[in-house]
Order: sequence, then structure tokens, then C-alpha cells
Amino acid sequence: MLNIVLFGPPGAGKGTQSVKLVEKFGLVHLSTGDVFRYNIKHETELGKLAKSFIDKGNLVPDEVTIDILKREVEKHPITKGFIFDGFPRTITQAIALDTFLNTKNTSIALMLALQVDENELVKRLLIRGKDSGRADDTDERIIRNRINVYNEQTSVAAEFYNTQGKYHAINGTGKVDEIFERLTESIEQILGKSS
Ligand code: AMP
Repeated sequence: MLNIVLFGPPGAGKGTQSVKLVEKFGLVHLSTGDVFRYNIKHETELGKLAKSFIDKGNLVPDEVTIDILKREVEKHPITKGFIFDGFPRTITQAIALDTFLNTKNTSIALMLALQVDENELVKRLLIRGKDSGRADDTDERIIRNRINVYNEQTSVAAEFYNTQGKYHAINGTGKVDEIFERLTESIEQILGKSS
């Protein structure tokens, strides 16, 4: 199996690139943010809970998020692998993911971390907010909080993969296709090494 963590701050392009990577490598795209938004739209209990955190730009608690992630993985017993988009976002989640994948006799092959500077992120998110209607993309204070949460709680998860030799920084600026090219090259290098 090929399991990839696509990492980076909000607005780095994880969702956009995941769609393209899924198409190219035949993987399952798993975005915890998408699962939460689906539940918010359908007004489920999980949706109500998630909304109270998401609308402020804070993380949904680990125990809830880890549970969701496991359930989503279980829905795809036969797959070439997963692209984890927006998960893990804390060290606790990273450890839980490793342990869980271990029970399935698989593991994360690599973490691709998109690098984009903060002002560019804010600009991208405000533009996205106009089209997507996502409440957490329309208010600059909430956007800044999400970036702070990333810097304080999420970026450390990169270190977790770095110590395992799985961390790859990717320049996340430029045209969508250029960034995709960089991601693809990294993945193919890894595939080349493992075959
Ligand atoms: P995203 O679509 O990945 O930007 O996620 C949107 C929001 O959903 C985030 O700002 C968090 O509030 C919440 N969320 C998504 N994934 C996670 C996660 N792995 N851990 C905690 N909260 C999450």
C-alpha cells in the first residue's frame, strides 16, 4: 500500500493537490475537514460538535477526530493506499495513525509538506472564502487563528515524520501544475526506491 500524509498550513493547497494525486496514483482521498463539513451540512451530532470548534478556527478534539479517521479508513478495506489530507494535525493523532496502520500491517510511506508563506496563505484563503462560502475562510481573524493553531499544535507533527526519515518539504508556491509536478517527483522517487 502507498499511504501519504499531505501536510501543510490551511490554504497550502492540500485539497487541490489531493484530487490530482488521487487521480494519478489511484489512492483514496481522506480529508477529516471534508468529513466534518459533510456532517455540518447534514446537521448530525458530530456536525454540531465539530462546528463549534471549526467556526472559531480551533482543532476538533483528538479523540473525536481519531475515531472519525479510523471509521473512514475502515470503509475502504481494499485500496492501493490513502492520501491523508489534514490529518494528523497533532502529535497524538500522528501516533494514533501509526498505531492504527500497524494493526492493518501497513504504514505511512511519506509525508509531503507544502511550504507557503503566511501572507500568501491569508490571501488564498480570503479568495477561497468568497467562492466556497466556508465560514472559517471569510474572517481574517479566524484565518490567522487557524494559522497560529497550525504553527503551535500542528507543525510539530512534521518532526514526528522527520525522525522516521519520511518528511519531504515541497515548495507550495507557483502554478497548481508545477506544485503537482514537485509532489509527483517525490512520490515516484520513493516508489522507485521501494520497488
Ligand atoms: P481543513 O478542511 O483540513 O482545513 O479543516 C477544516 C477544519 O476542520 C480545521 O480548521 C479544524 O477545525 C477541523 N479539522 C480538520 N481536520 C482536523 C484534525 N485532523 N484535527 C482536528 N481538527 C481538524
